[in-house]
Amino acid sequence: MKNKFYITTSIAYVNSVPHCGFAMELIQADVLVRYHRLLGNNTWFLTGTDEHGLSVSRSAEKAKLSPEEFTDKISGEFKKLTKALNISNDDFIRTTDKERHWPAVVKFWNELVEAGDLYKKKYEGLYCVGHESFIKKSELADGQCPLHKTTPEEIEEENWFFKLTKYKKEVKNKIESGELKIVPESRTKEVLNLIDDAEDISFSRPVSSLKWGIPVPNDSEQTIYVWADALTNYISAIGYKENAPQFNKFWPADVHLIGKDILRFHAIYWPAMLLSAGLPLPKAVYVHGFITVDGEKMSKTIGNVIDPFALVEKYSVEPVRYFLLREIPSNEDGDFSSKKLEERYNSDLANGLGNLVSRTATLIANNMNGELVYKPEMISQEVKDKAGQLFRGYTDNVDNFLLHEALGRIWDLIGVANKYVDEHKPWVSVKENPEKFLATMNNIVYVLYNVAWMLTPFMPETSDKIFQTLGASRDAETLENYRFLVKKDESLFPRLK
Ligand SMILES: [Zn+2]
Repeated sequence: MKNKFYITTSIAYVNSVPHCGFAMELIQADVLVRYHRLLGNNTWFLTGTDEHGLSVSRSAEKAKLSPEEFTDKISGEFKKLTKALNISNDDFIRTTDKERHWPAVVKFWNELVEAGDLYKKKYEGLYCVGHESFIKKSELADGQCPLHKTTPEEIEEENWFFKLTKYKKEVKNKIESGELKIVPESRTKEVLNLIDDAEDISFSRPVSSLKWGIPVPNDSEQTIYVWADALTNYISAIGYKENAPQFNKFWPADVHLIGKDILRFHAIYWPAMLLSAGLPLPKAVYVHGFITVDGEKMSKTIGNVIDPFALVEKYSVEPVRYFLLREIPSNEDGDFSSKKLEERYNSDLANGLGNLVSRTATLIANNMNGELVYKPEMISQEVKDKAGQLFRGYTDNVDNFLLHEALGRIWDLIGVANKYVDEHKPWVSVKENPEKFLATMNNIVYVLYNVAWMLTPFMPETSDKIFQTLGASRDAETLENYRFLVKKDESLFPRLK
């Protein structure tokens, strides 16, 4: 049976250009959605940009641009990034979109008013502009925000507040029952530890402090704060405002994929807001970690921020996708280094996969006039069992957001095939034992064909190239007597020097 699968990334904040962490998030989401497409599910993939707030208007000022010009420019960079990384998103939402996004936010706000969950209150607190949020005294280090190393501003103002406390019990129950899944498990525990202490949250700010945003309905003195402004993108883009068929088909989201720094907002605030608005909760929140660079935190001050465009320029897109998916564990922090990327390129891509494809193609082209008629009865039970076992591991890993492990299973299978070739020495049997040679080649093609399928969500272009080299179609209904018309390939991954 076909299922629907709606996945979102977080929306990138446009106060600066894209970095590698968001590139990884896009790629991870892309793998998941391509995987579900392969299963024949009805998929929808949303990404976009978060464009309001004080920090954006200040960055615009610094760049001597209007906020509109500035956000157009940076949002454009993120759109470019989706192209550079071969991301197959169906839509790209901008929170400055006055036709699609703003009216949905207003509708959502009014639902919360209707539910009696918004109230006005005088508020005193410390505000970190870098965070775009209030910060507790207990969170400071030497009077400074530990993340941004800046002294927060003391603020006293009247804000709209959302009754988060009214819903925290219900949100907690849904998380504990697994109705709202937080992946990995360690993040579930983290949320459950936070949820009891959650307080009502500031939902607006006076126009005098925050102008670049969406006005509060019926209160011209106030601007809607980030929660109702940004989180609502997940429903505005699919037509919440007009209750579109698309909205009814795809909501609730199957996966919100986010970084660990915004877990609380997605696992506590957003579900509470949805409950207040009478909407179903997303089914799962997948949480990835952060990328360090050569063991250090990525930061502008250190100057070690990795530019994803430069990476793609240097290594091309598929090796970059491979490295970020394989080397950085999907659900934990991981480390980036050019040295490791080049090592993985040479060992896994050039020697592992590239070598397997090229020796297979060469053997068939040189000894069989490029044509192999596939005989399933020639596949050894051992190879079949091993491939089946690795395939089950692979699907299991993807289903549990362990994409690095899923790639591990593909490379295990590549290893099986390379070892099989070494042991069976087809370059010898082709002269001495044609029957054995034929069996060997059938086994290798069988494995390679499976590898090409399994690579589809991760490295779609490489997968296509293997299908082309094998002269195989993705539409073949059965492989029995299938004619593989094999071409000698140009090297898939020429070794890096
Ligand atoms: Zn801060």
